[in-house]
Amino acid sequence: MSTTTTLDYAVAHLTDDSEVAIPYWHVDSGQDGETFLVNCAQHGNEVQGCESIRLFKQLCETDLKRGSVYLVPFTNLPAVKYRRPHINLGPEQPYADAEGHNMNRTWPGNPEGNDTERVSYAIHEAVVRHCTRCLDLHSWSGFFASATLAPNDGGLVSEMAETTAIRFISWSKPDEPGVEHTPSTITRLFNNTGRGAVCIELAGQYEISSKKVALGLRAATNLAKLFGMMDGEPELLDGPVIGMTDDMGDRKFDLNAPCSGLFVGTGLQTADYVEEGQKLGHIIRDDNLETMEIFAPVSGYLLRYGCYRPHSDVALPARHPYASEGDPLATVVVP
Ligand SMILES: [Zn+2]
Repeated sequence: MSTTTTLDYAVAHLTDDSEVAIPYWHVDSGQDGETFLVNCAQHGNEVQGCESIRLFKQLCETDLKRGSVYLVPFTNLPAVKYRRPHINLGPEQPYADAEGHNMNRTWPGNPEGNDTERVSYAIHEAVVRHCTRCLDLHSWSGFFASATLAPNDGGLVSEMAETTAIRFISWSKPDEPGVEHTPSTITRLFNNTGRGAVCIELAGQYEISSKKVALGLRAATNLAKLFGMMDGEPELLDGPVIGMTDDMGDRKFDLNAPCSGLFVGTGLQTADYVEEGQKLGHIIRDDNLETMEIFAPVSGYLLRYGCYRPHSDVALPARHPYASEGDPLATVVVP
C-alpha cells in the first residue's frame, strides 16, 4: 500500500482578467477516511506554517494510512508575493485596514468579488469543499506565545484543539446553530457545517523559526493520528495545556513598565515557564540611567514577553524596546 501525491492548482480569475494559480498537494492513501486540509499564509506575512506543511507532506507520503490530505502552503499567494498581510496594504498599515481584503473573512469566497475573494473562491471550489477536517495555520505577533484558537464545543473541536499540543488554547464560544455567518473565517465555515477545524497561531510574523515549524508539524501529525489517518498516539505536551477565556480572573498577571526606559530581556521566550521572583529583565531608566530590575510576579507560563506596542507586526517603531511607563512587558499565566 502506498500513497499517491498530486500537485494541482486552484486558478482564480481576477478583476483585471488575469489569472493566478495557487498550487497545492493532494496526498491520497487510497483508503477510506477523512479528507484533511492543512493550509497556511492566508495573511501573506504569516509563513511559519508553510514549512510545517512541506514537512508534513513528506511524512504523509510514508505514513498516511487512511483518507487523504490537501496541503495548501500559500493560500493567499498574491499577499505572500506582495510581502504584506493583505494585498491592499501599504507600508505600516495595520491588518484592520483590510477594506475587504482580509482573506480570513471571505470564506467561501466570491467569484464576482474583489481579487482576494476570487482567490478564496477558487481554493474553495478546488479544495475546501472536498475536505472534512481543517487545520488553518497563522502567525500572530512574536511578542505573544503560540496558541491554538478554537470554539469550545465539548466535542470534536475541543478534542482537536487539545490534540494540537500547543501550550495555550484560546477558547471561544461556539456559534448558535442556524445563525448565518458567511462570509466567515475558514475554521468557522468548517465548524458551522459539522466539519472540525482549528486555527493555530505559530507566533512570529515575517519569519520562519525551526521551533515554530516543529510545533506546526507536530500539530498536523497529531491531528492525523486523532482522525485515524496515521497509526500511533498523538505526541502530547509535557506539562499542562492552558485554556484561556475572556475571564482569567487571578490566573493572569500583566506586568507593566514601572518607569520609562529601555527594556532589556534575559533571553526568555514566550511560553517559557518562570518562577515567582525570577528576573525577567531590566529597564535602563531614561531619567537617571539607573537599572531597574523586573521580576516575575507569580510562577507560570509567559503568554506575552517583551516591550511592544500595537501593530508591532507591521511597523518597526512598534517593536522598539523603549518602554513608556505603564507599557506591557510580560503576561504570566498560572496553569
Ligand atoms: Zn493570520
